[in-house]
Amino acid sequence: AHEGILRRQSLRESAARTYARSLPIVPVRARGLTIEGADGRRYLDCLSGAGTLALGHNHPVVLEAIHKVLDSGAPLHILDLATPVKDAFVTELFATLPPELAETARIQFCGPAGTDAVEAAFKLVRTATGRDGLMAFSGAYHGMTAQALAASGGARHTGVTRLPYPYDYRCPFGTGGERGAELAARWTENLLDDDKSGVVPPAGMILEPVQGEGGVIPAPDGWLRRMRQITAERGIPLIVDEVQTGVGRTGAFWAVEHSGIVPDVLVLSKAIGGSLPLAVIVYRGDLDVWQPGAHAGTFRGNQLAMAAGAATLAYVREHQLARRAQELGARMLARLGSLAAHHDCIGDVRGRGLMLGVELVDRDADAGLGGARPAAPQLAAAVQRACLDRGLIVELGGRHSAVVRLLPPLTITDEQADAILDRLADAIAAADR
Ligand code: PMP
Repeated sequence: AHEGILRRQSLRESAARTYARSLPIVPVRARGLTIEGADGRRYLDCLSGAGTLALGHNHPVVLEAIHKVLDSGAPLHILDLATPVKDAFVTELFATLPPELAETARIQFCGPAGTDAVEAAFKLVRTATGRDGLMAFSGAYHGMTAQALAASGGARHTGVTRLPYPYDYRCPFGTGGERGAELAARWTENLLDDDKSGVVPPAGMILEPVQGEGGVIPAPDGWLRRMRQITAERGIPLIVDEVQTGVGRTGAFWAVEHSGIVPDVLVLSKAIGGSLPLAVIVYRGDLDVWQPGAHAGTFRGNQLAMAAGAATLAYVREHQLARRAQELGARMLARLGSLAAHHDCIGDVRGRGLMLGVELVDRDADAGLGGARPAAPQLAAAVQRACLDRGLIVELGGRHSAVVRLLPPLTITDEQADAILDRLADAIAAADR
C-alpha cells in the first residue's frame, strides 16, 4: 500500500506539492510526537503540521472536545451564528490575550486558513485608515492569497513597501546584534519621514515576532518596541502575525508578551484550532468600523475547530506549557550550540521556545558581509533526508532553504527532546562527511 500510494500521489498531484516531496512517507496513525507510516515505521514529528500541533497529534483533550460536539447533535456548520461552542472558544481566547488588547478587543472569524486572516487584517486597516499601502518585511511569510503573498518575502510583487527585518546572523547592515536592529529601525523611520522617499503613509504594517518560514529568525525585543513606537507615533496600525508563534510556541502564550508590545491587530490561526482549520483576527475596538457584511466567508464557523481550539488553549494555559516551552527550548538550544561547535557546517543556531533553527552553511567558502558563510541548501536537504532515515521529521526553511527547523509539540518529554537531538546530531554527522 505504501509504495502504491506514493506512486499514485506523484502521478496525480500538482507539481507544487511540497512536504510530500521531501517526506515520502504515508502516515496512518499518529499520537503526540509520533507518526506511524503505512510501512510500519515510526517517526518523531518535529514538523507538527507546520507548527499547528501545540499538543501533538490526537491529544486526548482535543479528541474528547471533538467527540463531545459530534455526540451532542450540535450543528457542525452554522456560518457566523452564535453558538455555545463558539462562545466558549471566544471566552477562552480572550482570557489569554494581553489585557490592554482584551479590554476593547473585537474578533472577526475569517476563512479556515492563516492567509484568510491576513487578508482580513489588511482589509480592516484599509477600511479604518482610508489608506491603501502596506509595509512588510524582508523574509516574511504571511500566506498564499494575493495580498498575503504580496507581503511575503520571497514574492516579487509590487504595492507593498519592504523593510529590512533584523537578521542577526545575516545582518543586511553587516553589523548584527542590537546595532543592526537599530539601523533597520532607522531605515524604516527614514522611509516614513523623508517626503522624498516616495513612500506614502501606509494603511498598516505587518510583522512576525519570530519569522518562521523565513528561517526561524527571532526579532529583538528592542526592535519590536521601536516598530510599535514608530507606527504608534504616525497613526499606522501594527498588525502582528502570530499564526505560527502563538499558543505558547515561543515560550510565552503570545510572542508579543516577550517585548510587551500591544498590537492593533493580532492575526491568529494554526494552533488556535487545535489541529483543525480556524483563523481569526483580534483587534482594537475602535478599528471596528466596517459595516455588516463588509467581510464575509462561508467557512467561518467550524464548530469542531472551535471546540478543539478551546480545549487546546485551556490546556496550554492550565499546564503552563508556554513556560515549559521556554525552559525546554533553552536547553535544546544550548545543546544545538554545542553541536555547532563540533560542525563547521553549522553557521548559526537560534530560536525562541520550541521554535528552533539550525542554519547550514558552506564550510569551505569565505565569510561574507557580517561574517556569515553562504547558505548550503543541498547539505540541508541531505540532513533532512538523513533525519528521515533515522525516524525524525524536520522541515527546511529560510531564504535559501538551508535552515533545519524544529517545531515539536509543546507536550514532549525531556527524553523525547533528547531523542530528537540525538537523531539530528547523528544525521548532521552523516551528512557532513
Ligand atoms: N503567517 C505565518 C506567520 C505563517 O507561518 C503561515 C503559514 N506557515 C501563514 C501566515 C499562512 O497560513 P496558512 O498556510 O494557514 O494560510
